[in-house]
Amino acid sequence: MSYSVSYSTFMNMPFEEAENGKLAPKSAVASGSSTSGQKSQLLLLDLYSGCGAMSTGLCLGANLSGLSLQTRWAVDFNPHACESLKFNHPETEVRNELAQDFLAVLREWERLCQKFGFVNEDVSPEVDSSDDDEGPYEASKGSPGEFEVGKIVDMCYGETSNVKEVGLKFKVRWKGYGPKDDTWEPIEGLGKCEERIRDFVRRGYNKNILPLPGTVDVICGGPPCQGISGFNRFRNSEAPLQDEKNKQMVVYMEIIEFLKPRFVLMENVVDILKFAKGYLGRYALSRLVAMNYQARLGIMAAGSYGLPQFRMRVFLWGARPTEKLPQFPLPTHDVVIRGGGPVEFEHSVVAYEENQHRDLKKELLLYDAISDLPPVANDEMRDEMDYLTAPKTDFQKYIRLSREEVMNLLPEGERPSQKRKLLDHRPLRLNDDDYQRVCHIPKKKGANFRCLPGVMVGPENKVQWDPNVERVLLPSGKPLVPDYAMSFINGKSPKPFGRLWWDETVPTVVTRAEPHNQIILHPEQDRVLSIRENARLQGFPDFYKFFGPLKQRYMQIGNAVAVPVSRALGYALGQAVQRKGDDKHVFILPPDFPRTTQSDIID
Ligand code: SAH
Repeated sequence: MSYSVSYSTFMNMPFEEAENGKLAPKSAVASGSSTSGQKSQLLLLDLYSGCGAMSTGLCLGANLSGLSLQTRWAVDFNPHACESLKFNHPETEVRNELAQDFLAVLREWERLCQKFGFVNEDVSPEVDSSDDDEGPYEASKGSPGEFEVGKIVDMCYGETSNVKEVGLKFKVRWKGYGPKDDTWEPIEGLGKCEERIRDFVRRGYNKNILPLPGTVDVICGGPPCQGISGFNRFRNSEAPLQDEKNKQMVVYMEIIEFLKPRFVLMENVVDILKFAKGYLGRYALSRLVAMNYQARLGIMAAGSYGLPQFRMRVFLWGARPTEKLPQFPLPTHDVVIRGGGPVEFEHSVVAYEENQHRDLKKELLLYDAISDLPPVANDEMRDEMDYLTAPKTDFQKYIRLSREEVMNLLPEGERPSQKRKLLDHRPLRLNDDDYQRVCHIPKKKGANFRCLPGVMVGPENKVQWDPNVERVLLPSGKPLVPDYAMSFINGKSPKPFGRLWWDETVPTVVTRAEPHNQIILHPEQDRVLSIRENARLQGFPDFYKFFGPLKQRYMQIGNAVAVPVSRALGYALGQAVQRKGDDKHVFILPPDFPRTTQSDIID
């Protein structure tokens, strides 16, 4: 492999440089020796999937490049995130478990498939939906007090509601009972059920419910590394991987090592390149290389792909030696730069060279993204409502397209239904005191708690009390201007109770809709941004619906990979699978990406 220090890239030697072309990986390429040959659809595993933004974008982008990619499996231990993913992707096997337990299940699954002789069959698994898991196994019950195993319907490794011990367990459908009465049973108790287990494995193998080594084309996901968060005072900078909070990076790599996918895409916060001299970022890159993957690191700002949000993140491609290593897509849009890239990795920032010709679209602002949404109050309770107005900007036209339009699935000549509802356009309700406070913040650019009576800005941009103004109290008796606003960042921060303005962008959509320490108030309404507004800032299509309590929905959105970024990366993946493009670190997306022909007719 060649190693480019400045681009943090390990890649097969290009054809020209290899001696006589003999050892050139490109000759392997020409003979089409990639593991999965000419499969028509590639299968994706989304780890730490959240509500599925990363895989959604990857599949959309891959499809735009002419490659059919489907999220076959997803894993997340948050049940609400799983519910969102399942609703939006009914075709995906969603596993609500810890990634480390998923790995244990994978190992057991391979063992079972081998034991019952399925693994060596030549036919690869096909999705077979003829078998219906719902409903009682047989109409008649056994004698009272007697339970007989009807069939096995699932397996897991971690803790379950009825069995705390970790270990292999099967979900049993009892003879004569329905899914409501299913229970998890440890394998030790099912000694006499070999036939039932075999049936389950056969059905599961045919339905492809779990991946086996070599059957996954792409793994994506961002292992959480909470041990490096700037808010975490107990950071272990000597040995970051010893920190329990960072161990998912290792689990992630072990899953890759076990399944050996053709391609890998990892996402993470830029801090993995900064904390402890970039230890975790270097670990990820070198672990991939040690597992015989080509690897390429890039730092991308979401705003550069058409969002009013900066949001810088690290992405790491991996590709088996027989594959073409995906490139990074160059920006399509100007962006309000907010800095933050690590100096040592500056060449990995995906951007045009200083003197390179570029054709960027204008940066997006808050107005472009959310100005068509109807007004809602702080106490809005509806999860669905009418749109009321037509889209005002190109962004709004695109984001409001139906799933069929975005995926180009509408039959020729058919118009999309116009009667779609607006989903999740409701804000986290502020408590009475905060609501009163927010009502006092003027509706103008730059407004925040500093505009309230009694607050003065002194030297060094620091707030202080105005001695001539008596402290105003709310009806509850609490002060209008709370102490924590005055003391936040030593009184120097303009963020508490800050209003966004129409011509602004946000640094990063966060997971908590909290007005005390970030600018998250709507420009002209007395409330925080709604779930849908945050989803728009992350580029989720409007048809994407979120599940769980309101805070959980905000969290799924704040955690997500911005969809336009994963969509652009999906296009890059599609190009690589089809062996299009050159060996450079970056490439230029098609003009007008991601517009499809159909999206242009909806005006
Ligand atoms: N890539 C996702 C966002 C993922 S956020 C997207 O684009 O939408 C990280 C997710 O990891 C969270 O949803 C969290 O619930 C999950 N998570 C954290 N630790 C986990 C673990 N040990 N096993 C499985 N999931 C985990």
